[in-house]
Amino acid sequence: MPDNASPAMIDTARARLKAIFGFDDFRGRQAEVVSRVLAGQSTLAVMPTGAGKSLTYQLPAAMSHGTCVVISPLIALMHDQLRSARANGIRAATLTSADADWRETQDAYRRGELDLLYVAPERASQPAFLDFLSAAPICLFAVDEAHCVSEWGHDFRPDYRLLRGLLDSFPDVPRLALTATADRQTRADVMAQLGIPEGGLVLAGFDRPNIRYVVRHRDNPVAQVTQLMAEHAGPGIVYAQTRRKVEDLAEKLAAKTGRPVLPYHAGLAPEVRAANQAAFVGSEDMVIVATVAFGMGIDKPDVRFVAHVGVPKSIESYYQETGRAGRDGDPARAAMFWGAGDFATARQRLAEVDEERRNAERARLDALAGLVETAECRRAVLLRHFGEDPPAACGNCDNCLEQPGVTDVSELSRKLLSAVYRTGQSFGMGHLQKVLTGVEDERVRQRGHDQLSVFGIVQADEAGLLQPLARALQARGVLVATDHGGLALGGTARAILKGERNVEIAIPPKRERRGRRGDATPNPVGDPLFDALRELRRELAIEGQVPPYVIFHDATLREMAAQRPQSLAALGRIAGVGAKKLEAYGEQFLRVVERH
Ligand code: ADP
Ligand code: ZN
Repeated sequence: MPDNASPAMIDTARARLKAIFGFDDFRGRQAEVVSRVLAGQSTLAVMPTGAGKSLTYQLPAAMSHGTCVVISPLIALMHDQLRSARANGIRAATLTSADADWRETQDAYRRGELDLLYVAPERASQPAFLDFLSAAPICLFAVDEAHCVSEWGHDFRPDYRLLRGLLDSFPDVPRLALTATADRQTRADVMAQLGIPEGGLVLAGFDRPNIRYVVRHRDNPVAQVTQLMAEHAGPGIVYAQTRRKVEDLAEKLAAKTGRPVLPYHAGLAPEVRAANQAAFVGSEDMVIVATVAFGMGIDKPDVRFVAHVGVPKSIESYYQETGRAGRDGDPARAAMFWGAGDFATARQRLAEVDEERRNAERARLDALAGLVETAECRRAVLLRHFGEDPPAACGNCDNCLEQPGVTDVSELSRKLLSAVYRTGQSFGMGHLQKVLTGVEDERVRQRGHDQLSVFGIVQADEAGLLQPLARALQARGVLVATDHGGLALGGTARAILKGERNVEIAIPPKRERRGRRGDATPNPVGDPLFDALRELRRELAIEGQVPPYVIFHDATLREMAAQRPQSLAALGRIAGVGAKKLEAYGEQFLRVVERH
């Protein structure tokens, strides 16, 4: 059997891509995956979020005789996919505990009238299900979130292990495993577990070029997120670390911006949580403030920004959480607002971790600190973390755009660390700054700190560097927090004090250049036609009870506004307008174009 479909077959696939989805061509490595599937080969596709994984089985499913059985871990995810597939005229159904139309779905399957059948892994591995599936032809097994099959992966699900039996019962049906996150070990394991041959890996890069990474010190989270919201009119996710912070931030942001803002955390009643999530998915301008519990199972393509108020758990979680921005390919922002305290707390917790895990956890924190503190391209740091060899600069992160200076602060570090040492490793930065800059207040005098050799040794011109330096040293674990809010020496402090090690820090440019909105939406502002097209989309969304993006993406409306199609044929040539959508909505959109 050849590894790939014939050129004629690929041409047919491209034609169907246009007819069904309205897309002119494949993106990234989609063509390779589709080609293997059409040739009947089993494949593991590792592609970043937003790369368009679902199309790689939906298209072959629509082209082939027989049903594609999709195994997916979350009901919400299945229903999202179902909606989008149906909107494109693909015959799809789900068999989940949340569905009332089981009988109809089963009948349709038996009659061979389904292109896609979505099921959960626990159902898929039941013997009765195998019997049921045997009643009609199957063209493909697609295993979504395939990293769940591996214990190496970050989200192991035992039910996924049972799939092998089902797959092996249909030896002639190709398998397509899909995931956005799998390191080398996980990939090998997934392939072994699902019986995918060695040559069956299609690995796309991790880069998400439309996401702009920005990392800032957190000085006023409400003001910082408010500014972010002012720059992005579209939907956004704000991650905060505790339920209390979620509630507090949501309330303040709503009051300050007047935008719709809702909270999401595990302490809310399930029906409130579900309602808030649904409201967010359907909205074009809502911001949801959430704990990290939020996001699994949401593939809203038009999220314009993801903000972290506080450092994420690891670079892996940062990548996954920020990856929820900009799936539609339009510019999006990932903003992190970090504080030295985030690292201090995390490093304090290391002490409670058993020794075996401690080194790994420390390495995880060091990697995060490296990302936060770097003066290099953030994307390069991220991609190198995932084993890639990226260019030195991306042009779309804060460091590439603003080029922070790197300053050698070894001497100042020695002064600061000595002051920490000589004052007994129990005072916070406020007090240390006074001692170092020679401020004689009551407390300083009482403790006799005005008599220390470090008193007043930092000159005014350097004093401004003390705070950023202290933050950097905390992030690196050179300064650690004590239980009473003081600072003590840790990590490589002694080597620095002895002059064996130098310290450099990145200093961001003095003032953020305001008003530059390089990554702002490409949507036209104040264009009556574009606004009217959006209005129609909103009405149709309400009428069809689907999120607006299921009807058309912004990019499709932008092209309509720019091209002003005068006929159904012209409208059908616009990217994102497939045959089914043309038939369902074409006339109405043409009328709007005509009127403006
Ligand atoms: P993933 O599952 O990989 O995160 P999705 O399957 O949700 O990504 O696709 C992301 C978005 O990209 C979807 O909105 C989809 O319509 C769009 N898309 C997929 N393939 C193409 C393509 N070939 N051309 C243009 N847009 C595409
Ligand atoms: Zn960069």
